[in-house]
Amino acid sequence: MSDIEIARKANKKPIQEIGAKLDIPNEHLLPFGHDKAKISEEFIKSLADKPNGKLILVTAINPTPAGEGKTTTTVGLGDGLNAIGKKAAICIREASLGPNFGMKGGAAGGGYAQVVPMEDMNLHFTGDFHAITSAHNLLAAMLDNHIYWGNELDIDIRRIAYRRVMDMNDRALRDNVHNLGGVANGFPRQGGFDITVASEVMAILCLATDLKDLEKRLGDIIVAYRRDRSPVYCRDIKADGAMAVLLQQAMQPNLVQTLENNPAFVHGGPFANIAHGCNSVVATTTALKLADYVVTEAGFGADLGAEKFFDIKCRKAGLKPDAVVLVATVRAMKMNGGVAKADLGTENPDAVKAGCDNLGRHIENLKKFGVPLVVGINHFVTDTDAEVAAIQDYCKERGVDAVLNKHWADGGAGIKGTAEKVVELCEGGTADFKPLYPDDMPLAEKIETIAKEIYRADSVVLDGKIRDQLKQWEDAGYGNLPVCMAKTQYSFTTDPNRRGAPTGFDLPVREVRLSAGAGFIVAICGEIMTMPGLPRVPSAENIRINDKGEIDGLF
Ligand code: ADP
Ligand code: MG
Repeated sequence: MSDIEIARKANKKPIQEIGAKLDIPNEHLLPFGHDKAKISEEFIKSLADKPNGKLILVTAINPTPAGEGKTTTTVGLGDGLNAIGKKAAICIREASLGPNFGMKGGAAGGGYAQVVPMEDMNLHFTGDFHAITSAHNLLAAMLDNHIYWGNELDIDIRRIAYRRVMDMNDRALRDNVHNLGGVANGFPRQGGFDITVASEVMAILCLATDLKDLEKRLGDIIVAYRRDRSPVYCRDIKADGAMAVLLQQAMQPNLVQTLENNPAFVHGGPFANIAHGCNSVVATTTALKLADYVVTEAGFGADLGAEKFFDIKCRKAGLKPDAVVLVATVRAMKMNGGVAKADLGTENPDAVKAGCDNLGRHIENLKKFGVPLVVGINHFVTDTDAEVAAIQDYCKERGVDAVLNKHWADGGAGIKGTAEKVVELCEGGTADFKPLYPDDMPLAEKIETIAKEIYRADSVVLDGKIRDQLKQWEDAGYGNLPVCMAKTQYSFTTDPNRRGAPTGFDLPVREVRLSAGAGFIVAICGEIMTMPGLPRVPSAENIRINDKGEIDGLF
């Protein structure tokens, strides 16, 4: 059965019953239909003095086309913890329409470890992304309008830093000329669109602690520079108040349920390259007040996702994670060990063993953050016992447990072993979370620290222009910000084809950007895409409403 067929058969409970599991009173659940609700700001505020539950991060090895299943594991583990009698909730990101209609498919998990309603979650959901798109574009419109009416702020229209966004994969919009058509249409200039999940407004919504903080951060967005290179802020354009109004409802976290009727917070969805790739701080902190165990996911592999989860999200929100589940699969280990995708079906424990070097490096890296970990092997039906044993032996030699999980096929019952291990790690009190680098380290050194400690690059290539730029930002008071690395997710290096655990390479930094509202410096290494394109055969071609009025083709 496909993911959507399984999801369609779900025995969903009314959302009030899911809220009741977390003691959320009905009047504070703002329902969107019968199976989705937002949680009121007032209720969230009332939780401030409650103690926090335990926070568990699900991350993975470097992704391969074989698929790893972080979301599937996150959802499964939430169900598994509930299955062993714990009060647990999960926190994941909302889905972008781009990948849904392109090729990646949905973001609600898979098999018997899914969040429902899967169709809603993968489409318009509660409208958050539309609100973010509107808020983002309001500022873009007000910026061009300001210039049109005389440019009192003296903006250099060659130095506009703010683009427009849309939640769609559309390469036609990457680079455009705006304002053509004559005097009444403004001053022609170059611009373009990013996908909504790459918007700084998205990153801000996900890092803001409340509406006040949201509005302040929106005001801090740098939209352009003057001829003397001084920044012009969103606040100068006076768009921050209206943007916050558009985002008021979107700031409230969404509650839905898993196939096993356990609570799932699905809120926010920043890109994992140009931004930090985690669900919202508000959802995570709220879940921690309401559940004893909260399982959350970070995008991409642990080199990007976990590092940013720790160094950006946890640092800024004061979160202290208690355990990490590092997802690995036999298939991905084989690909890391040099097997082609077409040959993944053939048993090959030696290739699994060879590919484990990638896993091993992530294990070493995660230990640097002081959070205890377990490896979760996401079982595919084609995996053989010898192949699974190859991963387990490898981990055992490194003093780490690797537990085989069958949540995709069996739901929460299939991942009880990992759930028990996670409880043991959380209650063991060994977690002593610390970010990789201190706030006051110079920006260039932060980039170097990540490159050397996590990617294992020999050196970082930062040309003089980039060093000067970083220095300027330090002088302007941005030196304390963390760094958000934008690099291919497929490799520790900047070359997506170098799998495994490469050594003997340098990390070239092509460009640095300041996301002053979100509060990080983006270091772009290699090519990164802020507006994806569609593949030759987009999955949209197979998405339709069937005779019964159901949606087919989402996966
Ligand atoms: P990630 O979060 O790492 O990107 P997902 O959990 O979204 O990955 O899974 C990606 C796809 O792989 C989903 O369509 C899911 O159904 C599929 N998948 C995940 N785990 C398994 C498994 N054990 N067996 C078969 N398919 C799986
Ligand atoms: Mg995922």
